[in-house]
Amino acid sequence: MITMKFGGTSVQDADAITRVVGIVKESLPRQPVVVISAIAQATNTLEKIGVAARDGNAALARGATDELLRRHVSVMNNIIRDAAAKKTLAEYIAAAGVSINNLSSGVEKLGELTPRTMDAFYSFGELLSSRIVAAALAEQGVPSTWVDTKDFMVTDDNFTRARPVMEILGPRLEKVMRPVISGGRVPVTQGFIGVTVSGVRTTMGRESSDYSGSVIAAALGAEAIEIWTDVAGVLTADPRVVESPIRVESLSFTEAYELTYFGAKVLHPGTMIPAEVKGIPIDIRKSGDPGMPGTRVSSATHAGPARVRSITYLADVTVLTLTPRLRQDRNPFREQISAVLTAKGGETLIMSATESRTALVLRSGRECGEISESLKGLCSAEVRSGVSLVCAVGENITAAPRLPARFLGAIGERPVYFYSNGPSGNSLIAAIDSAGTEEVVRSLHLEFFGRASSR
Ligand code: ADP
Ligand code: ASP
Ligand code: MG
Repeated sequence: MITMKFGGTSVQDADAITRVVGIVKESLPRQPVVVISAIAQATNTLEKIGVAARDGNAALARGATDELLRRHVSVMNNIIRDAAAKKTLAEYIAAAGVSINNLSSGVEKLGELTPRTMDAFYSFGELLSSRIVAAALAEQGVPSTWVDTKDFMVTDDNFTRARPVMEILGPRLEKVMRPVISGGRVPVTQGFIGVTVSGVRTTMGRESSDYSGSVIAAALGAEAIEIWTDVAGVLTADPRVVESPIRVESLSFTEAYELTYFGAKVLHPGTMIPAEVKGIPIDIRKSGDPGMPGTRVSSATHAGPARVRSITYLADVTVLTLTPRLRQDRNPFREQISAVLTAKGGETLIMSATESRTALVLRSGRECGEISESLKGLCSAEVRSGVSLVCAVGENITAAPRLPARFLGAIGERPVYFYSNGPSGNSLIAAIDSAGTEEVVRSLHLEFFGRASSR
């Protein structure tokens, strides 16, 4: 069996869903489990509704809810012909509307939007889209069963960034999904959303439907994970920055992890973790053009000399450079840094430590200032915000002759506030002023792939 995850643009309208049905039909001999994202922008709309309700803007919350419901009704009307199926779906959409409005009223009264409540809002995106896709499959003669993640996708209770609990969800998944698959039906379920052991909806972080596909595949022992999106695989750079980047045929799990961890939005970095543990390959394909080859992420190693496979960037990070006031304070100093980071909830993306200095790259946020303030008694702390990371990824590139020099050469005369060989020698990373990010990405692309023009 395989898991097939379809992203937001792949289910955004009736034409897109019709293509999804065609793709699933082609894969029936491989026993697919279908994992669906919310239709494009629906998750952002649900967030907008929650925030508007919290801010007491009832009209905005109601208006956005109505618009969200109308979109789903319109997609349904354009794809479902069967009157009974249409009636059931219309009732489901209307009931979701009532629930969203009830949630909004509660949030308006309290003036508070907790992560737990945000997850309750978020869950409607995937619940609605997966219902429509399940009905569309049935309408086209594909026996499908809609499966609620509430019945298996058990996570911890870190709302909005919950982690799945494999030991509990594995047996539940077997119980719920296996009979559907062996009965020759296609299970259709939701990405992104999970449930606590006590039955409260959670989500696993924005963009995490890819991760859901991988978790389900690992738990069921799938032979492949297919990620169907709006690009033909992982490209040599973000197509919104570099014109006509090239498709990357294959990547190792580590390369794909580092590339996505440092910003390539095409895949959620978590996707690689369960897949690598179970040795399940990930295929990234374009749903708008299913005949096109994509990218395979697997444990296969590359033949030939080390080379850069793709360029990525991560906007809006903060570099914190810490120098202890006294050299002999080194060890307690390191302990204190970790204690402050944990206490303030700073998200360290990468760090480097030498005898006399520690440099941290943090995702920008209010806590960065608080972290440096807390450390000031102990060391001199230099905070640099308005910075981006640019990154070249490829197995063993840091040890390859000339590649690091070419990387720095393409950055040119610009100041580099942080430089690293990456967590495992597979990436070259530099922090530069945000203003130059896109230009540097294009310059790196030109250096390593020989073509780049601006967009
Ligand atoms: P989905 O909704 O299917 O999950 P996403 O929008 O999350 O799709 O991811 C696909 C997008 O990732 C592409 O449209 C592209 O703009 C962006 N992207 C960024 N970097 C890359 C890259 N290196 N290769 C391919 N796509 C990339
Ligand atoms: N719908 C969710 C989001 O927009 C999850 C996903 O699409 O992967 O973040
Ligand atoms: Mg995505």
